[in-house]
Amino acid sequence: MTTAQAQKRVYNFSAGPAVLPVPVLQEVKDEMMCLPGAGASVLEISHRSKDYEAIIEGARQNIRDLLDLPEDYHVLFLQGGATTQFSMVPMNFHHSEGQAHYVRCGAWAVKAIKEAKKVGPVDILWDGEAGGFKEMPTADVFNKVSSGSYVHITSNETIEGVEFPYDPSTGSVPLVCDASSDFLHRKLDIKNYSLIYAGAQKNVGPAGATIVILHDDFLQKQVGKNLPTMLDYKIMVKGESMHNTPPAFSIYVIEKVTRWLKEEIGGLDAIYERNRKKAQVLYDAIDSSDGYYRGHAKLEYRSLMNVTFRLPSEELEKKFLKEATENDFSGLKGHRSVGGLRASIYNAFPPEGVDALVEFMKEFQKNNG
Ligand SMILES: *Cc1c(COP(=O)(O)O)cnc(C)c1O
Repeated sequence: MTTAQAQKRVYNFSAGPAVLPVPVLQEVKDEMMCLPGAGASVLEISHRSKDYEAIIEGARQNIRDLLDLPEDYHVLFLQGGATTQFSMVPMNFHHSEGQAHYVRCGAWAVKAIKEAKKVGPVDILWDGEAGGFKEMPTADVFNKVSSGSYVHITSNETIEGVEFPYDPSTGSVPLVCDASSDFLHRKLDIKNYSLIYAGAQKNVGPAGATIVILHDDFLQKQVGKNLPTMLDYKIMVKGESMHNTPPAFSIYVIEKVTRWLKEEIGGLDAIYERNRKKAQVLYDAIDSSDGYYRGHAKLEYRSLMNVTFRLPSEELEKKFLKEATENDFSGLKGHRSVGGLRASIYNAFPPEGVDALVEFMKEFQKNNG
């Protein structure tokens, strides 16, 4: 491989870790040897230094600004990925009077449920498996809940490519949301949510940090006793995510990605419009292919982040993948549980990459129809 080839950036459709904004990568590169003012790399300085404090505070503030977060929500940067939140949520908040309600809407929800069951009884509020995990529940499903520890949803199922097109309303029962793969892709009706968690590596940064947005009223309902220190939200809030060494580099990049979202893109309404258009271009290509390409998700619940689709046969899917790779489209292989193709087009994925893929899809159909 020549240096030129080795350095060529492809259109990266990876589901996670995933594409990051080019200006952010450039800035990270420029600052790698010496963080301005610090005289050392961000990889080398104390997380208690004033330079680093400005970074973590900036990241927190950007997220607050983007989501228009009221004062009584905490913003945390934790470790252990979204997967640790599957356990941490029930360990902290699953009380003995009643159940925790889970929406079983895809592969990640299934994993969250498995962990919750180790802590206490789980009620499956809605189950999408019989329908092939192609949709989300309608809003009225949430009216059935009147008691229990909390309701848990997965706002975007990364593997199946289904997404909530609305913010569920659960009344007095706290709503917990795994937003790992669509965090900061649109504005939220934030008051509906008591806790939102997201592994950074899908839509907001590199692997290593998990963002948690936590309403203080919910925090006060913590029931877990004698929790391991790192699994105790109260300790994490008290220490302002600095009880121990935080995932410093990941948070540093998150600060840049969220600043890019705010300043370059213009906030969540602007990114949503961009995401909606990108997804529409791709879904339109699927829908206008006379059934050659078939989308997995039902129309109303199609994900704007992970577009899942099939071709007429597995042979053609293999051929498509091979030729796509040769044409500098990477990461398009669908998850083995769904099969087919998956184009992850997160916030940072450029619109021209979607246009290029659509061109390729049309050409492929013409040659292999
Ligand atoms: C990727 C993903 C997870 C797991 O995240 P980790 O940070 O790897 O633990 C959980 N939920 C959803 C929706 C995801 O996309």
